[in-house]
Amino acid sequence: MHPRMSRARVLVLNSALGPLDYRVPHGMTVEPGSIVVAPLGPRQLMGVVWEPERLPSDAEVGDNRLRNLLAVADAPPLRPALRRLIEWTADYYLAPPASVARMALSSTSALEGSRHVVEYRATGHVPDRMTPQREQALERIGDRQGLIRELAAIADVSDGVIRGLVKTGAIEGVEVDIDSPYPSPDPDHAPPTLSEDQRAAADVLMQGVTAHAFRPTLLDGVTGSGKTEVYFEAVAEALRQNRQVLVLLPEIALTEPFLKRFHDRFGCEPVAWHSGLRSTQRRRAWRAIASGEARVMVGARSALFLPFANLGLIVVDEAHETSFKQEDGVHYHARDVAVMRGKFESCPVILASATPAIETRQQVTLGNYAEVKLPGRFGLAEMPAIEALDLLEHKPDRGRWLAPPLVKALEETLERGEQSLLFLNRRGYAPLTLCRTCGHRFQCPNCTAWMVEHRLTRRLACHHCGHIEPVPRACPECKEEDSLVACGPGVERIADEATALFPEARVAIVTSDTIWSPAKAAEFVGQMEAGAIDIVVGTQLVTKGYHFPNLTLVGVVDADLGLEGGDLRAAERTFQQIRQVSGRAGRGEKPGRVFIQTHSPGAQVMQALITGDSDAFYQAETDARREAGAPPFGRYAAIIVSSEDQAAAQETARLVGRSAPEVDGMHVYGPAPAPLAMLRGRHRFRLLVHARRALDVQDVIRAWLGTLEWPSKVRVAVDVDPYNF
Ligand code: ADP
Ligand code: ZN
Repeated sequence: MHPRMSRARVLVLNSALGPLDYRVPHGMTVEPGSIVVAPLGPRQLMGVVWEPERLPSDAEVGDNRLRNLLAVADAPPLRPALRRLIEWTADYYLAPPASVARMALSSTSALEGSRHVVEYRATGHVPDRMTPQREQALERIGDRQGLIRELAAIADVSDGVIRGLVKTGAIEGVEVDIDSPYPSPDPDHAPPTLSEDQRAAADVLMQGVTAHAFRPTLLDGVTGSGKTEVYFEAVAEALRQNRQVLVLLPEIALTEPFLKRFHDRFGCEPVAWHSGLRSTQRRRAWRAIASGEARVMVGARSALFLPFANLGLIVVDEAHETSFKQEDGVHYHARDVAVMRGKFESCPVILASATPAIETRQQVTLGNYAEVKLPGRFGLAEMPAIEALDLLEHKPDRGRWLAPPLVKALEETLERGEQSLLFLNRRGYAPLTLCRTCGHRFQCPNCTAWMVEHRLTRRLACHHCGHIEPVPRACPECKEEDSLVACGPGVERIADEATALFPEARVAIVTSDTIWSPAKAAEFVGQMEAGAIDIVVGTQLVTKGYHFPNLTLVGVVDADLGLEGGDLRAAERTFQQIRQVSGRAGRGEKPGRVFIQTHSPGAQVMQALITGDSDAFYQAETDARREAGAPPFGRYAAIIVSSEDQAAAQETARLVGRSAPEVDGMHVYGPAPAPLAMLRGRHRFRLLVHARRALDVQDVIRAWLGTLEWPSKVRVAVDVDPYNF
């Protein structure tokens, strides 16, 4: 037991403030980690009690001036392992500790004490007096359930409309107990019979779990080799040891097939954590994780900061995925934070990938991470044959995008009753729309980006800020009617082409526009499995996780797309993406074929894809990185200066640039307009700091920015280990 504390240092959840001291009133007991409610001016804020020696205060206040803490939350204190992770993340990514702590507490509302919450749902009863708003509300709510404000948001009506419907009996309240238990996964529910290679890999991972020690391991195996099946054995072992497991997945759409597989293996679903949860679901999940009752959690990157009671294993699936990099708020890389969490919790971390990042491979080379390999596909499935289609030689017809050999392959696949996938990483109909008469191009008013035409919704949309407008009939510039032309293909245009070529074929578009919830993903999986879709046209959303045995043909519409821009990651990214999408073909007993449409079939990355010689490719890429002093051999940090006021942003960026310290082994580039020079109405300038590996670049930047002042309308954010360099 801790000695009774009469004074407490509290990290209040306000990122503009440092830690504050409070008096612990008589009758209240707190310890480091306790979640408390503290007064701040007239407001009440949540906070976490911290060890004073670990979180220095810049203004010590005398005992007589301290204010009393107001309450302690009815929740276990945050454990030391999580507090150390919060400190490390704040330190490494140069973020306010309060912003990181907020992720750990995201759903507890210490202010709401009740364990019973009333949610609402439709009863099917039709109100006597129907209004257009009521009709809209009932239609949109359907069979969904939630708090009044959540239903109002779903239906796009005011809270009052929902309350009115409650009075008429069309909507009723249901009590939800946020402490009701989750079912417990059974490690021995339906174990698979593993192949010899799989058994050996699973044994190594299971030993890691039994050892209760920090051990990062790369689980490296081609798509379809059974990585999920194998790490499930480690999950089972952690369950037998009575410990909790966290599985991180890159996309929410992926969770649906995952949940189903988990259910087949363990007899019930794991607890899910993602941004789509309702507030009651969040509170229930958070409490169950903190109490240890929720055994397996599958989540998006933010799940990393949840208050696990006894974490025994972390799995990062598709660990190479770029969506693990958080690009706003606290800029962190979930793959790297996962490894640190494993370190603080003394538990193993499995990074599973068919195309690991060069950074991860390097950790294996250095001996910091262990490696477990699965050499081939499971069962009778073979890796698909990959062929490059030189677009100069195989020209698509005018106004078309699919080359004749790919069209022929589509036809053959349809005739055999098998499924095809056309991959193009571009949502919408066309990436650029312009006026044939005057050349006017449609640009987003808030971003340095073209508006993308979406024919399905008849709108122009900005993919960066979400700005949308209707497609006008006339050019806004020269007023000419029907003069707009679409330039280049997006998935909708490719789907049109497929339908024009094969009118009988059932074509489905799969992008974040069509699959925006786990339910939508489940619907898509169901249709694929039932054979109700012949041709899928999709973005990177379809490149991973799915397993469709009858999908035998993959066409990559524009393999050169990712190589544009020519940054140091371009080839690696292209390799990963095309390997992943190729991995969708021929996962069952029927062999798969892959066609890659390209203008540079001789490029090293295309050759590596065709021959499947990934070792040579990785070696060459690694050498290029070493040569350039790029990660993992050197480091980058980006300083992004932004403001709605362009001049103010530019001036501050110049000031930051002028004040750069002279440090041996460090070089500062810029300021220059950031890769997206304007984003959501803010003008952005970037300074890129390049340093040798051993330099504590965070320390340098902290000291450097710490001496500067800038106007409050300017924001200065640091992105340590940025994805783009
Ligand atoms: P990966 O994650 O490496 O792409 P998966 O774990 O998804 O591979 O496995 C590919 C397919 O093979 C899945 O349908 C999976 O259920 C099946 N599979 C893999 N290993 C086994 C096994 N030992 N027994 C039965 N099915 C397996
Ligand atoms: Zn925009």
